[in-house]
Amino acid sequence: MKTIPFLSLEPQHALTGTEIKEVLTNGFEKNWYILGDSLKRFEEEYARFSGVQYCLGVGNGHDALYMALRACSIGPGDEVLVPANTYIATWLSVSRTGATIVPVEPDALTFTLDVNELEKKITTKSKLILPVHLYGHPCNMTSVEDLAKRYQLLIIEDNAQAHGASWNGKVTGSFGDINATSFYPTKNLGALGDGGAITTNSESFAGFVRRHRNYGFTDKDHCEQQGINSRLDDLQAAVLSVKLKYLSRWNEQRRKIALQYGDLLKGVGDLELPTEQVEARHVYHLFVIRSTYRDKLKEYLKSSGVETMIHYPIPPHLQQAYTSLGFKKGDFPVTEQLASTSLSLPLWPGLKDDQIHFICDRIQNFFNRYPLSVNRGCAW
Ligand SMILES: *Cc1c(COP(=O)(O)O)cnc(C)c1O
Repeated sequence: MKTIPFLSLEPQHALTGTEIKEVLTNGFEKNWYILGDSLKRFEEEYARFSGVQYCLGVGNGHDALYMALRACSIGPGDEVLVPANTYIATWLSVSRTGATIVPVEPDALTFTLDVNELEKKITTKSKLILPVHLYGHPCNMTSVEDLAKRYQLLIIEDNAQAHGASWNGKVTGSFGDINATSFYPTKNLGALGDGGAITTNSESFAGFVRRHRNYGFTDKDHCEQQGINSRLDDLQAAVLSVKLKYLSRWNEQRRKIALQYGDLLKGVGDLELPTEQVEARHVYHLFVIRSTYRDKLKEYLKSSGVETMIHYPIPPHLQQAYTSLGFKKGDFPVTEQLASTSLSLPLWPGLKDDQIHFICDRIQNFFNRYPLSVNRGCAW
């Protein structure tokens, strides 16, 4: 049986492998691995790509979020509005500053912040909105910016899943006061290990992170603030420079595959398919469908040789790590419903037509074999 993995980096590597090995060899021979030329070069390139003045490479996405929050002076007593449905790293970065997490329900169509819910959660202690462009679909940044202006809140975008996405033609990672992203290997732009960055137009926020990622040093001898050690390696930066050249092409491929899935899966079973708002350019970091029969469908696909994943089966407010916040099941019903019905299908640059057809054929088959009425009978 042919197996279709959830993600394969092979097609990416087939395109970039030779050049990547070349830059790694050159990097090796430089005998300078931290805060060097390759990092500086990638930072300039990624700033240009993001349409901002400054980019600073850091150790990972979580540190990028944390340092962005610290740059905005977020700390104990401050309330930060975060999506209830996100990867837990977003929440953990807020917790790490000592600030209070105020979860906001998503809009069930796009999985991103429901801006009406957002406004209801604003209090006198609110300091910052942290929109996550989840799965590659940008948040409604028009409304987020409007609310931020009206209530004098800062914005940090979590752009870890949306490199190259845009809202009204403006690229994500350029809206907030300072923004964070991750170059974890599986992201749309991924390193060969951990990596992350902040993007901003603010000279002072950029200065803060420039110092903070390097223990707080302003130069070799002067430590101005109690920083951390979180720098993007020069070797990773060199790899990212190679891959960045292909990012737009890869995102186009992702969009094309999403379109194919959309055509082939329309009206199948009880599936709800990803949507793209008119202002949005979705970059399909993940292709997330929803079904009441999610668990059975996942099992069936597995037995047919199709790997799928769930992003994310347990929302942060129900994780053991956050029992101290006192949330319980039912507190965020939209988030919880998404967690119990979402299924991510394989989508990566290089996924072939016949693989897409095979996956969709299996899904069709599942719903043919288990007519909805019968399924419903046993589900309830
Ligand atoms: C991957 C991810 C992060 C964290 O990135 P790391 O580099 O793994 O620390 C944060 N937020 C979101 C939404 C992510 O998908």
